[in-house]
Amino acid sequence: MDLIVARNREDLVKARRAGPVALVPTMGALHEGHRSLIRQARVRADQVVVSIFVNPLQFGPNEDFSRYPRTFDADLDVCRAEGVDVVFHPSVEDMYAPDRQIGISSGEMGRIVEGAFRPGHFDGMLTVVLKLFNLVQPDLAVFGQKDAQQLSLIRRMVADLNLPIEVLGAPTVREPDGLALSSRNRYLSEDERLVALALSRALRAGAAEFAPDAIRRAARAVLDEAGPRLDVDYLALVDPATFAEVGEDFQGMAVLAVAARVGATRLIDNVTLTLSPA
Ligand code: AMP
Repeated sequence: MDLIVARNREDLVKARRAGPVALVPTMGALHEGHRSLIRQARVRADQVVVSIFVNPLQFGPNEDFSRYPRTFDADLDVCRAEGVDVVFHPSVEDMYAPDRQIGISSGEMGRIVEGAFRPGHFDGMLTVVLKLFNLVQPDLAVFGQKDAQQLSLIRRMVADLNLPIEVLGAPTVREPDGLALSSRNRYLSEDERLVALALSRALRAGAAEFAPDAIRRAARAVLDEAGPRLDVDYLALVDPATFAEVGEDFQGMAVLAVAARVGATRLIDNVTLTLSPA
């Protein structure tokens, strides 16, 4: 089957087949991380829809919306190679009417950790994800653990708004040296990339410890060693259900998350840990 490029709801309806449909929302500049999401979708659905949309609503005024990499033709090649059925590629004008009023609020959970550094980001992200859900009407949707707070907020939105969609999380794909794949990695110079390796190194150092304080200390020490070229926004050890910091006696799954700027590039990464009683 040839890859179908859909620009609007009408195209999507025409392309729709019977059987489970999986949606993989992306902003394009596709890499191996996106490919792994597509493969996970493929296993579970008869039809895989990949959306490619750089969503202006989730970028702050001083963020990289206009220079975000746009590589549509290469993205189509990736989708063809992965056996994607439909690429949904709407224009900004089609997605957002100039007189639109209503959006999603990500609540308290959207204003902490990553949300504290990117005001409005998660509101804009949830708004576009809900619109994509309504346009594509998938049975399931696949998101990366790489954006852990995003994944938790989407699960929260699906629960709080009773959306009839199964959300699947996919593990973070990394370079052999540990750097998490990201469309923004292409901004990094060779030596910035070396500095950026401190993120995954810090997460590994944290993951080697067992109690919250020790985990935070070990990770922080690695970030500090990286020196002033690594400008850390936060290091947080949180409960994935709420993104609130965990206390010393917390038990169960926790997320150790970090965000830092290297030169003009802002990077995020995280690992999931299991905390058990001492
Ligand atoms: P983006 O295009 O950056 O908005 O990402 C689209 C989807 O791909 C999101 O669900 C991300 O969490 C996921 N993703 C991005 N990078 C990775 C990665 N390195 N491993 C797995 N999933 C990823």
